[in-house]
Amino acid sequence: MAGRIPQSFIDDLTARADIVELIGSRVELKKAGREYRACCPFHNEKTPSFWVSPVKQFYHCFGCGAHGTALGFLMEYDKLSFPEAIEELAGRLGLDVPREAGSQPDNSGSTTPLYDMNLRVAKYFASVLPNDARAKEYAKKRGLTRETIDKFMIGFATNSWNEVLKRFGAKDADRKALADCGLIIERERTDSRTLDRHYDRFRDRLMFPIRDSRGRVLAFGGRIIDQGEPKYLNSPETMLFHKGRELYGLYEVRQSRTTLRRLMVVEGYMDVARLHQAGVNYAVATLGTATTPEHLRRIFKLVNEVVFCFDGDKAGRAAAWRALGNALPEARDGRQIRFLFLPEGHDPDSLVGVEGREAFEKRLDGALPLSEYLASALAEQADLSHADGRAQFAELARPLVTKVAPGVYRDLLIDRLSESIKLTSARLNQLWFNEVTDAAGNHLTSAPSASERRTVSRPRDGGGGKGLVTKAVKLVVHFPAIAGKVSGAQLTQLEMTDDPGSRFLFELLDQLQQDPAAHTAQLLERWRDRPEVARMHALAGEEMLVIDESSAALDLISAIEKLALEPTMRRHDELMAKGDLTDDERAELRDLNLAIHMAKAKPSPQGSGVTPQGQ
Ligand SMILES: [Zn+2]
Repeated sequence: MAGRIPQSFIDDLTARADIVELIGSRVELKKAGREYRACCPFHNEKTPSFWVSPVKQFYHCFGCGAHGTALGFLMEYDKLSFPEAIEELAGRLGLDVPREAGSQPDNSGSTTPLYDMNLRVAKYFASVLPNDARAKEYAKKRGLTRETIDKFMIGFATNSWNEVLKRFGAKDADRKALADCGLIIERERTDSRTLDRHYDRFRDRLMFPIRDSRGRVLAFGGRIIDQGEPKYLNSPETMLFHKGRELYGLYEVRQSRTTLRRLMVVEGYMDVARLHQAGVNYAVATLGTATTPEHLRRIFKLVNEVVFCFDGDKAGRAAAWRALGNALPEARDGRQIRFLFLPEGHDPDSLVGVEGREAFEKRLDGALPLSEYLASALAEQADLSHADGRAQFAELARPLVTKVAPGVYRDLLIDRLSESIKLTSARLNQLWFNEVTDAAGNHLTSAPSASERRTVSRPRDGGGGKGLVTKAVKLVVHFPAIAGKVSGAQLTQLEMTDDPGSRFLFELLDQLQQDPAAHTAQLLERWRDRPEVARMHALAGEEMLVIDESSAALDLISAIEKLALEPTMRRHDELMAKGDLTDDERAELRDLNLAIHMAKAKPSPQGSGVTPQGQ
C-alpha cells in the first residue's frame, strides 16, 4: 500500500494551486470584478450564481451552497477521492506526490512498478489484438467496434504459457512485479532446472484492463475466446486490486464527462463495453463478486440513482437478492435504488445489441424500486393468502428492514410491506422495533423522524461569546494574513479562557502566526480533518462586508478584546445580581469595574502592530 502523503506537501500544493485555471478548464468562467462567475456546475441554473475567488482560492455557489477549495472541487466535480484529487492537482503542476514510508516496513515501498508493469502489459495485449486473426474475428463476432476496443483498451493474450513472462520478465525484479500483479503464476513444483518457475495466467483470452478512477491499470479480466474454462478469469487480489471495491468501467464512465446522474450496475465487462458502445455510457460492472457495501458507498458518492441490472434467470435472481441485502444499509431518502430484470436468455450485451439504446433504456422505466422488489421477492417466499404465510413474510422481512437506517425511507418501506400483509404500519413497527420504540420513548413514524432531523440540522448557536468567535473566525478565514496582527498578549488572553470557542480561535491564530497561509483555501485544507472545518467552509462562502485587510484586522482585534473581557463581564454581572456582598466581593467588584472601564476606554485596538493598510 502507498504511504501517507506528507501534510507539508498538501500545504504547499494548495498554496500553489490556481483554482481559476482549474475550474476554468472544466466550466466556462467569466471575469466579474475581482472574481469569476459561471452557471453552477452542481445545480441547474440559467443565471450564474457560482463564484470563484482567485484571492481566496475558493469557489462558492449562492444558489445551491456548493463551495470549497481546488481539491474540494476536484473531489466534487471529478468525483475523486482526496488522495486522487491531490494526485490530479499535483499532476497539473508537474509535481510528483511524495509518500511517507508507511506502516508497512518498506516492502520495497512503492506500488509504482506494479502500475507500470500492468500498463506495459496492457499496451502489449492491446497491440496483439488487431494483428491476431482469431482474436479479431472473435471481437467482431461479439460486435465490438474499433472505437470501443480503443476506449476500453481491450487486448488479447495469445495461447502461450510464457509469452508475457518472456517479454516482460527478463529480470528478477520484473518477474517479481509480474507475480505481484497476478500476471504470472508460480509453479507448485519445478522438475527441471531448465523449466521456468512461472507461467502466464492469461492465455487465449480477450483482455479487459481494469482501471482505477485515474486510469491506472489495476488488474485484468479475461474472456476465453473459444471453448474453455473458466469462461471469465480475473486477476487475483493484489496490492493494487481489491475486487470488492473496484467497479469495471468507472474510469470510462467518468471519461465520457456527461453529467452523471445515475449508474447502472451489470455483471460483466463485455456488458459494460457493449452498453457504452450503444450509448448507455453510465454502465459499470462488479468483478466476479456480488455488489458489496463498499461498491455501494462508492456509487452513492457519485450519484443518487443506481439501477442493478440482472439476467432474468435463476443465477440473476440470486445475485439480485444478494445485492438487495447489501443495498439496504445504504438506502435512504433521496437515493433511488432500482432493480431491472432482463428477459430470460438475455444479458445486457445481447439485448442492447438486438434492440439498441432507446429500447433498452425504456426498460429502465420498468425497473422495480427497491421497496417493490423486496415486497415481491418476499411474496414469492411466503403464501400471503394465509395468516401463517403473512407472519412468515413479516419474519423474513424483519432482518432486512432493520438494516435500513431509521428515517423517512424506512417508514415508507414499512408502509409498503405492511400493504402486502394487510397490517397497519404502526403494528409492523411495533412488532419489529418494539425495543427501539420504548427506548426512544416515541413511535418511529415519519412525523417524529422529520422533526428529529429538524433538531439535528439546526445549528446550535450560543450566547454573545459564540457570536464574537464566529465573527472573528470568519474574518480570519477570509483574510488569513490578519492573524499576524494579533499580539502575543492578546493570544495569551484567548488561551487562558475556558470557552471552547475562544480556545479554537486561539489555536487557529497561533497556527497561522507560526505558519502563515497564503489564502483561504490553504487554511481550509490544513483543517480538513477537523470537525470545525465544516463551519469554516460555510463562513468562507458567506459574504463579507469588510473588504480590505486592514479593516479586517481592526475588527478581529476588537472581537478578541471583547472575548477576552467576557469572563470579567460575566463575573461582574454575577456580583451585581447577588446584591448582598461581602467586603471581599465588594473589593472584587470595584476591580472588575475598573478593568471594564479601562478596556472600554481604550482607543479600540491598542498598540498591537496594526498598520493602516500595508507597505
Ligand atoms: Zn450551485
